[in-house]
Amino acid sequence: MSLTLPASRLRTQVASIIEGTGSSPAEARQVADNLVLANLSGHDSHGIGMVPRYVDAAAEGGLKPNSGVKVVLDTGALLTLDGQRGYGQIVGVQAMELGIARAKAHGSCIMTLGQAHHLGRIGHFAEMATAQGLVSMHFVNVLSRPVVAAWGGGDGRFGTNPCCIGIPLPGAEPFLLDFATSRVAQGKMRVAYNKGEKVAPGHLIDENGAPTDDPGVVVVPQSNGLFGALMTFGEHKGYGMAVACELLGGALTGGGTWHRPADTARTVLNGMLTVLIDPAKLGTQAAFETEARAFVDWLRQSPPGAGFDEVQIAGEPERKARAARERDGIWVDDATWSEIMAAGAKVGVRITSAD
Ligand code: NAD
Repeated sequence: MSLTLPASRLRTQVASIIEGTGSSPAEARQVADNLVLANLSGHDSHGIGMVPRYVDAAAEGGLKPNSGVKVVLDTGALLTLDGQRGYGQIVGVQAMELGIARAKAHGSCIMTLGQAHHLGRIGHFAEMATAQGLVSMHFVNVLSRPVVAAWGGGDGRFGTNPCCIGIPLPGAEPFLLDFATSRVAQGKMRVAYNKGEKVAPGHLIDENGAPTDDPGVVVVPQSNGLFGALMTFGEHKGYGMAVACELLGGALTGGGTWHRPADTARTVLNGMLTVLIDPAKLGTQAAFETEARAFVDWLRQSPPGAGFDEVQIAGEPERKARAARERDGIWVDDATWSEIMAAGAKVGVRITSAD
């Protein structure tokens, strides 16, 4: 069994649970809107299914509702920010608002954000920048149980370390590349496990370092009490990118890198290095617009390859999913819905699919 619910109802229900973690009504609404937008965008892994984790993290004390970013250093085009373990959906937006203003003023901004609680879909932040005509690049690390193996390694050593690049395009929707450096997002393994699905070969190793198609190896402890691990995308190259995200998002931001055995904490902290560029201030705006447009048009003229209908650019699948799910509702599997109801019960909020 499963449910298909309208986005508006999910926003209200999720907000009531987030408020139960101690958030102000405005904060709860912003977190809920962000999570539901991730579902609408087709990324259920970073949507409302995160609510149980947030409820536990707040109870643990690792997530601190109603916290804002603290400016640690401000030299104009360089910003160092501390997320103070606030909801990533709040401190990430606050950080981007500051960085976008600086990039508009100075032509560019390099911004670090450490100790943000889970930032969710990183594309959300690049979308804020591209909406203002800015290029936005993000390198992110994840401080949580290490679920991704090094290339050549047999256990998890780091997180799914996402990378994101947003580029505004003249007269068109932006290019929005936003991906985990693991072959798949950890949350997608939770979703697959909840649905009882297997995953394609080459994505996972089990608790003994052997290849497996069982997503459960990274969701629940295995026979020896250990977890398996996800593999990086693109073999040694994706592995290198994941390490770059750890060094830039974790070390350079000061937020911290992961270098200890796994624990059972539910708190997830992200560190994010953001580089913002205003093409209008770089002196190449006219050429940038013409050349970017010409290249995207050239890509689109490619004949579809076997098994494909068309060539798309990054960002399009999410925009198409939004249109379809706004219209048809958001599909929630039974296990995820039960977990969300149980999370609500923990903070004294009762929700049902008929609310
Ligand atoms: P994914 O594998 O679905 O890849 C998504 C990217 O590929 C998007 O930019 C999308 O537009 C593009 N894309 C997909 N199909 C395409 C096609 N046919 N043609 C052209 N481009 C195409 O994403 P993922 O790796 O599962 O990541 C999902 C989300 O998880 C991201 O939003 C990421 O930021 C987020 N994430 C967050 C954290 C965190 O700790 N906060 C950690 C990992 C991932």
